[in-house]
Amino acid sequence: MKCPVCGDDCVREAREIIDMIPAVFAGCKDCRMTILDKSLPPPKDSYHEACSCGRRSLDDVFAHLYTLLVREGIFTGKEALREVGSPLLHPGYPMVNPPFLLKRSLVLLSRHPDKSVARMIVDEIPEVRGVVRAGKYVPGVTDTSLKKPPRTYALLAGCDVRANVFPTTIGPVVIYQQHSAIHIEFPRGYNPKIRSVEDRIARIKPGWFVDVCCGAGTLGLTGARLGVPHVILNDAWYAAAFWSAYNTRVNSEFFKVDDFKMYTDYASMAKHPVGKEPVLIAETEGAQQIQIFQADLHALHRVIPKEPVLSVIDLFDKSNQANSGRVIRGWMSQVNGEAFIP
Ligand SMILES: [Zn+2]
Ligand SMILES: [Zn+2]
Repeated sequence: MKCPVCGDDCVREAREIIDMIPAVFAGCKDCRMTILDKSLPPPKDSYHEACSCGRRSLDDVFAHLYTLLVREGIFTGKEALREVGSPLLHPGYPMVNPPFLLKRSLVLLSRHPDKSVARMIVDEIPEVRGVVRAGKYVPGVTDTSLKKPPRTYALLAGCDVRANVFPTTIGPVVIYQQHSAIHIEFPRGYNPKIRSVEDRIARIKPGWFVDVCCGAGTLGLTGARLGVPHVILNDAWYAAAFWSAYNTRVNSEFFKVDDFKMYTDYASMAKHPVGKEPVLIAETEGAQQIQIFQADLHALHRVIPKEPVLSVIDLFDKSNQANSGRVIRGWMSQVNGEAFIP
């Protein structure tokens, strides 16, 4: 599948990604494990080159990044190694051991590089697939009233599309996203949100499942993976709605669907970043019907059927309980069935 950000082949079918793990980041018998103290500068020019199998330990890649940042005058050489930034691996999954990275398997989130240094990083350090300038805020829509204008990080060089693999009781769900545009959720061995969706679906056996603020689609597609016949995913934020649609296609072999129809594209959606009235972005045909909308959650009820639905409402800021209560009550006053916060 063509990557909507860089045009390359970043996006694969779910099965291909699932088959890669866990071997993808396991070293061969010749791989050299380097473990450095993240609170100190690395020893000068100490990083090793990749093993003959093509892999290199994460700390060697970070020491290489550090050396480049010193060379370009961005670091003085006194910064701690962890100052380089945060690594996001592709594909991401719950990991026990420190990983050995292959080519183009790392998206770097960092506060430091400018565009030209980011370009050098992607050109010189083979493991890096993209460099994103991160800020101390969360990208995308974080406020249910939609009053705060959403912010994004900046993709400085390469491509920041990567996949996370989320385990569910019935098998993994592969979730791609563009990191500069959507807030990050890491896959863990135990995911309480996925578990709460599984428990509700097992108990209620709903005919309809609605993921009201779906992000990149993890909970909604978990519902689809569990076989709910009608699933609706929705987000007000264009990038979330887009990637939910894309991820429906990526995981389609796990659903009872014959066809997938996408009615728009990423660039067109970016022109209307925050949804209001429901717009159908994509849908499937076949025994299982999955629809993806971009809408303000307060307007979504207009496309929800009158029969009972199970709704999951995964608000960004659950610590604001008064707001969560208001949203659930507002939703339940318009929609039949049961709603829960995961
Ligand atoms: Zn790409
Ligand atoms: Zn090796």
